[in-house]
Amino acid sequence: ASPPSPVLLTTRFAEELPELAISWSAAEAPDPQLVVLNEPLSHELGLDPSWLRSPEGLRLLTGTGLPEAAAPVAQAYAGHQFGWYSPRLGDGRALLLGELQAADGSLRDLHLKGSGPTPFARGGDGFAALAPMLREYVVSEAMHALGIPTTRSLAVVTTGRQVRRDSVLQGAVLARIASSHLRVGTFQHARAKDDLDLLRRLVDHAIARHHPDAASAANPPLALLRGVISAQAALLARWMLVGFIHGVMNTDNMTISGETIDYGPCAFMEAFDPATVYSSIDQTGRYSYGNQPLVAEWNLARFAETLLPLIDDDQQRAVDAAGEALRSFSREYSAAWSAGMRLKLGLRSGQPEDSAPLVADLFPLLQDSAVDYTSFFRRLGAAARGDLGPVRSLFADGASLDQWLRRWLDRGPDPEVLDDANPVYIPRNHLVEEALDAAVGGDLAPLHRLLAAVTSPYRERPGLERWADAAPDDFGPYRTFC
Ligand code: AMP
Ligand code: MG
Ligand code: MG
Repeated sequence: ASPPSPVLLTTRFAEELPELAISWSAAEAPDPQLVVLNEPLSHELGLDPSWLRSPEGLRLLTGTGLPEAAAPVAQAYAGHQFGWYSPRLGDGRALLLGELQAADGSLRDLHLKGSGPTPFARGGDGFAALAPMLREYVVSEAMHALGIPTTRSLAVVTTGRQVRRDSVLQGAVLARIASSHLRVGTFQHARAKDDLDLLRRLVDHAIARHHPDAASAANPPLALLRGVISAQAALLARWMLVGFIHGVMNTDNMTISGETIDYGPCAFMEAFDPATVYSSIDQTGRYSYGNQPLVAEWNLARFAETLLPLIDDDQQRAVDAAGEALRSFSREYSAAWSAGMRLKLGLRSGQPEDSAPLVADLFPLLQDSAVDYTSFFRRLGAAARGDLGPVRSLFADGASLDQWLRRWLDRGPDPEVLDDANPVYIPRNHLVEEALDAAVGGDLAPLHRLLAAVTSPYRERPGLERWADAAPDDFGPYRTFC
């Protein structure tokens, strides 16, 4: 192997916030085998991919052999799960190995998921099966390629350990990279401890890592709140524009950085319908596609509550200031979504308000004909170039669409804007399942083909037609599991 690359991990979280960190180590991995490694990301982090593939590298990626200075911890957090508050969640099967300095100077968490039970495991086994870790790898890398803020996936390694679910499965560890793992639930946990010094240090830590401008604001905690609200408004708009359904938007799964985190029962919407839910545990549709912006706003209100004691000594004034900040969420979300939707329609000129009726009239058409959301927008590129066939063929009856298409074409949509705004390849549910099944059976070719498609989502390539199409009818209704 190549010369060992020195892996310099800092322990900033553990040192600044010891109350939120439990020193812990990973379970042994009897037979670590690399399944997939993200070479471009390795380079970004200054880690040599050929070293990561070596036995020593695999020990880092499974947490079983770490640089001397490393001090891995399980992070404590609380959270509202489906609206119900749990004061003590924390990393039940994950570890923060420490922070790496990326090429651009910023700190990134190196985090392992599936590394064995911690004191937060609450009866869980602490392990992860291969397929769900690969699922997170594929979907997070697809999100990144779509330009959506997200945690990244560095590698998936099978451990040689068997994990028991409905059947016996191969155990695996995902190495995840994030600009931090601070969550709304982290603040809820700190607030619940009623330790204002801890809460203050947490605010300072979050400001330094994610919203440095807030440090010099007149009211830094309030500025942090505004920064998080803006980041989440922008994120939610991106999710909605691309048809992403997170599936489990509990407050512990919402970051302070504005990155998408925790790819469990997530999926991309196919036929347009705001009520779409794929998760088997979301019985009431709380986390349906169309509810996501409302849920984000609800989660941010929980975040705001944790900051009240630091925003103002006078709690009524604190509530008023936080309430005003929260009201900006829907305004910023709507502005970001409308601007994004105009690009998805290829409209660059004119005032946003001019296209509002055109946008509003589109969604009932898509919903009535259960039209594949991604295909519809992508095929507008051909339509703007004069070929209406591909987009019309998505509708059983094209007549109602024709009238809308004429109004849209009158506005002079730009084909290049359309192609840059609308992906051809998303991690479609049937393709993800097919790739994971094959990978679990030892055939990695479908996984690599899928990754090749979704990590360059806007550039249509010959031979990948199948990766652009909606699921065949015989795929049936889709269900995801945590
Ligand atoms: P999630 O729904 O993925 O956000 O997880 C919620 C909580 O359950 C977190 O505290 C996780 O660490 C914990 N958890 C999930 N799966 C396991 C597992 N297999 N073993 C231990 N803890 C788990
Ligand atoms: Mg989680
Ligand atoms: Mg999860």
